Amino acid sequence: MDSTAPAISGTARHTPMMEQYLRIKRAHPGMLLFYRMGDFYELFYEDARRAAELLDITLTSRGHSAGQPIPMAGIPYHAAESYLARLVSRGESVAICEQIGDPQVSKGPVDRQVVRIITPGTLTDEALLSERRETLLLALHEATGNYGLATLDLAAGRISLIQCTNWEAARDELERLKPAELLISEDATCLAALGKRPGLRRMPPWYFDLDTATRSLCEQFATHDLRGFGCDDQPLALIAAGCLLHYAGETQRTRLPHLHTLQVERRDEALLLDAISRRNLELEYTLSGGTEHTLLWIIDRTANPMGGRLLQRWLGRPLRDHALLRQRYAAVSTLMTDNLHHSLQRILRATGDIERILARIALRSARPRDLARLRDALAQLPEIGLLLHGASDHIGKLLATSGQYPELHALLDRAIIENPPMLIRDGGAIASGYDAELDELRQLSEHADGFLLDLERRERECTGISSLKVSYNRVHGYYIEITNSHAQRVPDHYQRRQTLKGAERYITPELKSFEDKVLSARERALSREKALYEELLDQLLPHVPSLQHSANALAELDVLGCFAQLADTLNLCEPELSSHEGLSIIGGRHLVVEAVSDTPFIPNDVEFDPQQRMLIITGPNMGGKSTYMRQTALITILAHIGCFVPASRASFGPLDRIFTRIGASDELASGRSTFMMEMTETANILNNATAHSLVLMDEIGRGTSTFDGLSLAWACARHLAASLRAYTMFATHYFELTTLTDTLPGVSNVHLSAVEHGDRIVFLHAVKQGPASQSYGLQVAALAGIPRQVIAQANEYLQQLEQHAHTDRPDAGVEVQMPLFSAQPHQAAIDALRALHPDQMTPRQALEALYHLQTLLASPGEQARHPGLL
Ligand code: ADP
Repeated sequence: MDSTAPAISGTARHTPMMEQYLRIKRAHPGMLLFYRMGDFYELFYEDARRAAELLDITLTSRGHSAGQPIPMAGIPYHAAESYLARLVSRGESVAICEQIGDPQVSKGPVDRQVVRIITPGTLTDEALLSERRETLLLALHEATGNYGLATLDLAAGRISLIQCTNWEAARDELERLKPAELLISEDATCLAALGKRPGLRRMPPWYFDLDTATRSLCEQFATHDLRGFGCDDQPLALIAAGCLLHYAGETQRTRLPHLHTLQVERRDEALLLDAISRRNLELEYTLSGGTEHTLLWIIDRTANPMGGRLLQRWLGRPLRDHALLRQRYAAVSTLMTDNLHHSLQRILRATGDIERILARIALRSARPRDLARLRDALAQLPEIGLLLHGASDHIGKLLATSGQYPELHALLDRAIIENPPMLIRDGGAIASGYDAELDELRQLSEHADGFLLDLERRERECTGISSLKVSYNRVHGYYIEITNSHAQRVPDHYQRRQTLKGAERYITPELKSFEDKVLSARERALSREKALYEELLDQLLPHVPSLQHSANALAELDVLGCFAQLADTLNLCEPELSSHEGLSIIGGRHLVVEAVSDTPFIPNDVEFDPQQRMLIITGPNMGGKSTYMRQTALITILAHIGCFVPASRASFGPLDRIFTRIGASDELASGRSTFMMEMTETANILNNATAHSLVLMDEIGRGTSTFDGLSLAWACARHLAASLRAYTMFATHYFELTTLTDTLPGVSNVHLSAVEHGDRIVFLHAVKQGPASQSYGLQVAALAGIPRQVIAQANEYLQQLEQHAHTDRPDAGVEVQMPLFSAQPHQAAIDALRALHPDQMTPRQALEALYHLQTLLASPGEQARHPGLL
């Protein structure tokens, strides 16, 4: 039963109005119903309680129905927009029910109808959308462990498909796309894994059907089949797209003529980042959820909201196609010449968000100001063409796509006044001179007096009666009054209307038609204006698809202009892309640290090639290890979205993924311990990294006891270097790991340098060859404000420990050279681990056992024999 339907007590029945309400409510389950009553939208029963809580408005009650009080909450209709914005941002959907009938003539409650449904993922109103963020509706379809995802940006008219072969990949895509609303079949098994996310909507399973999807997509795109979209191998994503389309149609209650194509994205075309790495690298949000001090915060200098949103899409999905990236670099270079990007951005700033305007034109919800902005945007196109004439090939293609629309511009220029009002409802948007009838109506309503004076003058002239008067009264309307002394000069076409003592009143066909016109002129001017506006939308509609291409091209020019500006102002260099294995960054910088720090940033190098696969990074806390690793990932990402990079030279061979295991994750709330999180992230890397992956490992093993941690770190490092051969940056506090270079080819030690200055430590932040000589732990602790006497005690204790080092006392901070242990049968290692509780193991025993574990992990044959060992 619908939870909002109140129980009926005894024989009491609902009032007719409540019956109407409940009938409409039943047809719109799972959403709040805004029920229009006079100047308010009212919510009743459970909806009222929910809205009162979500919007912090008063919960009252409105009389009784069915013997029960009716809980009610209301919002004034003119303020609805801001309440709607708050509700959709919390993932709620709202059905807006208006009065359709005329209250004067209705018997019983006025007719009401739901006129639109607002859902978090299908917003197109400017007031409800965030200017620089996409609002996506996503449908997810699951079948036999594979996942099809389709997204719709209704406000842009863009549908994208992507298919994933496992849940982890699908989850990563969800994290990338961050849909405002997610549609999923109520019988999908992955529902549980999605948890309670806002905007999650469970759909009946029949929304997900391949035949229906194919049919409705073909109908939507007016094509015979879908072959032209290259999505034959994406049946699950197509099914999801069918669901999207169905849902969007239902909620919008209108045709969606701006959806006319599909974009297919493939996982292997992108430089992949899993959800955790995306978060760790703080691309769009910091770990604490802010948008400041992120990579996007630094690089988003786009001039236009369309460009801003495209940049986010690019940043979310770096590409592996070197040819395409080189085209972008070439375009950036061209835009840097003669500061072309300055002029380009100046023009694009004035161009407006035509992508969203076009969607509103297609949905027929465009406002007069939208059309004025489109007009102004079209006026800019020739200027952009002139500015960029002869630029790079890629820019040439974008210019060709952006096209020029002189006729449309002329049409809008004639049709819409310079600064039109918000709504067409109040009139005054269509320019004078556009339509003779409208001009006349307006003329009539605004200049009736002038017309009458003019008529009077003309009639006096042609009759020769100087006392002729044109007047108006409420009973007889307009008339011409002529005193009886001039009766013989009254023209034949004058018709008598009224006889007075000493005068006659007449009407002429001209005055009669003036009267007819003027009395309803205002209303008719308004409705004429609305009709003209609708006609104008009709005229624009066929141009929407090509204008959408134009908008996309402008957005891309904006992003490339932004890259050129960044390159100019932040001293970036053009990356080289190559088919040879490796990755090399000379003089790399971290743009965010550089921007927020008062001291000069120290650039550092990273070099990976077939001979060098892993860097073991040591150095004091605060030395810059994590900055060094993160900058490597960020530079790599920038290069793969087509941006120049903060380095003096950078080159990249083929790369497939970036993995990071950095710092404490913020998922403590999920109930998993930090160590468990750390191990889950590490397992993901060990299971998925390849020889073309960039892997950043920061301090793994810290969440557990020293020896467990050390051993795990050791075994992971070995596995990454020897078996996976990924490009790995491995920052660690375990000095023991620095000896890996003795036994494994392709591994080098580097450290972040620091010097002692008196009893203080000075971080140089420069990466040097070789392992760090000491950890400076106490100095860093002193810097952090640990009281002097505690530091002094720690120092004493440290010296005692160091005296005991290399003696065989199991509990005395033994520095063990792990590779010195002789090999024993693998089984022995496993037995040792299983049999001994770690607390009862001496360090030497534990190390010995785990050294063998590490050998095991390095050998695929042994891994297969002992699955689940990690
Ligand atoms: P670690 O990971 O070794 O503890 P971080 O990478 O967190 O150290 O760096 C600590 C701080 O040092 C940073 O917040 C930054 O202010 C500064 N820093 C790091 N690297 C550099 C550098 N290359 N140049 C200048 N300052 C740096």
